[in-house]
Amino acid sequence: MHTIRLMSRTQASDRLQVLTIEDDATIGRHLQAGLQGNGYDAYWRRTGGGGLTLARESPPDVVLLDLGLPDIDGVEVARILRAEQPNLLIIILTARTDEIDVVVGLDAGADDYLVKPFNLTVLLARLRAHLRRRPVVGTDTEPIRVADLVVDIAARRCLVRDREIDLRPKEFELLVALARHPGVALTREDLMAQVWDENWFGSTKTLDVTMAALRRRLSEAVPPPNGPDGLELPKITTLRGHGYRLELPSPT
Ligand code: CA
Repeated sequence: MHTIRLMSRTQASDRLQVLTIEDDATIGRHLQAGLQGNGYDAYWRRTGGGGLTLARESPPDVVLLDLGLPDIDGVEVARILRAEQPNLLIIILTARTDEIDVVVGLDAGADDYLVKPFNLTVLLARLRAHLRRRPVVGTDTEPIRVADLVVDIAARRCLVRDREIDLRPKEFELLVALARHPGVALTREDLMAQVWDENWFGSTKTLDVTMAALRRRLSEAVPPPNGPDGLELPKITTLRGHGYRLELPSPT
């Protein structure tokens, strides 16, 4: 998680490093000035290639990523960054109104998005919200067990018997939020608050995309109806107009 990196930062500068990858000079300059003026170490590259190079040389805490870049598609940059730096916070900046771009970007590993033009105050609030300490890290020492699913919060691992399911940070946190209250209906707002932030004021599309990814990873690990060896994974039920519930296994 981002917080772990922050706590382990020991070099002279404890300012958070934000890399902006954006070819629009007006936006780039605006972000540079705004971020520097608000206590961040800000860096700016105008191409995907330049951004990736800098991110490898000096891994940032946050990347603000334009989707429409001159050399590499921003979605591809997000995918590469996510693969190379799993704990990096990636926020997409998109001028496109087409929601597909946002969905594809989030699926490629971005954590959040802002639609241009956006207010600097909004960006700074989002950054603070994301970088605030996540409640889910290391607070439970006992793994949570629901049917054959084991969620080990301290180790940040999700296991089905001995098989590990590889989840992205937000997918894991979403599963934790559900698994802490199996059989209980959780509202979308509850989940957004627990997994993202209580002051979240973005779209809840992020929740839908992350939920879809979580379900996909679980079903790939144990294909329905019960997969090999009679493994039983709790199902995530969608409650229309309300939220979600992790189903307790039916008694046998
Ligand atoms: Ca652009």
